[in-house]
Amino acid sequence: MFIAIPSLDKNFTSTLFVPASHFEDLDAHPKKLVPYFQEHFPGVVPDLISEEDLKNQYKTNPHLPLISIKCTPYHYDSSVVILGDAAHAMVPFYGQGMNAGLEDVRVLYEHLDTHVPQVISSNEDRTKARAAALQAYTTERHPDAVTINDLALRNFKEMNHDVTSPLYRLRKTIEETLNDRFPGLEWATQYSRTLILHLPLLPHPVLGPHQLLLTPAPNDPNDHSDQKHRGENTRDYDARDRAGAQAATLLAAAAAATLLLFC
Ligand SMILES: Cc1cc2nc3c(=O)[nH]c(=O)nc-3n(C[C@H](O)[C@H](O)[C@H](O)COP(=O)(O)OP(=O)(O)OC[C@H]3O[C@@H](n4cnc5c(N)ncnc54)[C@H](O)[C@@H]3O)c2cc1C
Repeated sequence: MFIAIPSLDKNFTSTLFVPASHFEDLDAHPKKLVPYFQEHFPGVVPDLISEEDLKNQYKTNPHLPLISIKCTPYHYDSSVVILGDAAHAMVPFYGQGMNAGLEDVRVLYEHLDTHVPQVISSNEDRTKARAAALQAYTTERHPDAVTINDLALRNFKEMNHDVTSPLYRLRKTIEETLNDRFPGLEWATQYSRTLILHLPLLPHPVLGPHQLLLTPAPNDPNDHSDQKHRGENTRDYDARDRAGAQAATLLAAAAAATLLLFC
């Protein structure tokens, strides 16, 4: 996959994602680089970047591996704790790695504030309280970090393949229209549920499409009272998104069939 992200100077910053074996082959046979782009990414060389520039950038820019870490716990007793990529490095396709790290900080401090009182009688009590806070941090963050890690991996398939499907694009248009234009339906796309509404990401039994449309989404992104909804309907993004995708695909198929009938 070859992506281009617009920069403020009206240029693009591009990244090439390919299996390590392709990099090894291109490194060993630099003459293959331009034909490789012409075969896999037609329209890039020389239209968007000259051959010389491509060769030069390939040589000078770093070739880094993508890392995905799922581990637990994120702490050791009362004394060691890991946050951010050290705990849950993920592939970059959802743009959530740093956000997840910042959320770790928020959750960790919340549990330290809750479990470790300002005035404490002994070092032993302090150690116990800190251990409880770190355990609570691991317990709360691990399921969300695993889910966001999986969503990031899954988004690779969307970016790499699905965006070329007309049915997928129609489904996305319907989902985003429901999200943006019909707030009364209280529908939210998976992306906005994850990134804007800060809903928890814990696993939940599968919900049906009708529940998906009926499940209320908090309207105020600063309203952290969603914490108290844990255990209720807002838990499973994956199941809800699958159900939503099915519902939107059905709608998209119905819309496409109607269009075909009238054309
Ligand atoms: C291509 C790409 C695009 C991304 N896009 C986004 C995005 O759009 N949105 C988003 O939220 N996130 C994004 N991310 C993820 C984000 O960059 C990371 O999640 C974030 O930088 C992790 O921060 P961190 O502090 O946990 O780890 P790091 O940024 O890795 O910081 C760790 C630091 O520790 C230092 N260090 C390591 N070992 C030692 C040692 N032994 N002693 C002392 N220091 C040490 C390292 O040098 C480094 O400075 C992207 C990542 C990539 C690769």
